[in-house]
Amino acid sequence: MTPQTSSVPPIVLRRIGVYCGGNDGARPGYVALARSLGQALAQRGIGLVYGGGRTGLMGAMADAALAAGGEVVGVMPHGLVEREVAHHELTHLHIVDSMHERKAMMASLADAFITLPGGIGTLEEFFETWTWAQLGVHRKPMGLLDVDGFWEPLLAMLSHMDGEGFLRGNPRAWLLHDQHVERLLAALEQFVAPEVRTWARLAET
Ligand code: AMP
Repeated sequence: MTPQTSSVPPIVLRRIGVYCGGNDGARPGYVALARSLGQALAQRGIGLVYGGGRTGLMGAMADAALAAGGEVVGVMPHGLVEREVAHHELTHLHIVDSMHERKAMMASLADAFITLPGGIGTLEEFFETWTWAQLGVHRKPMGLLDVDGFWEPLLAMLSHMDGEGFLRGNPRAWLLHDQHVERLLAALEQFVAPEVRTWARLAET
């Protein structure tokens, strides 16, 4: 997607929040993608903020970032530390009280967000963070990192919602999509946030 033009300066990417599956998924490409993202972030000196688990794509990504010398910060509610198997070798693991606190902390620590393939937890985090941009709560871009066309059904659904008149205020302007890690990171770095339209103003349109 083409970045929007605006007088607002580009965002400096110090840390990226990543949402992704706690499982490996059915294809080897998913874990490979998670690893390459973790490695690329570390190589660029960009910190990784994620849910703090050691399983599935989450663990693969964190391990790859750590192995490449990157900063990895996990945020996990205490109720999930054992159930989701927390990663205890991270640069820092924040233990918080609730899922809501987890998302709020991840959102405040990160300068942009990338979503990898995952399940309903991943989608929940992706959509909530994206709606916060639409509401003017933050001005941080969202990226969908793709492999094997995983995100195509979601993108088709979004086009359908748009065509049916349900995407008001152009929330797609905040959403980048690519299957190449380096290209997506470059697009996030070059992203310029569109003019913020508050929820009150959206309701007027
Ligand atoms: P999944 O995509 O279902 O494998 O879940 C990936 C991650 O999303 C896991 O770390 C879950 O704990 C997390 N998750 C699931 N539901 C929520 C929620 N309501 N809020 C925040 N994180 C969640």
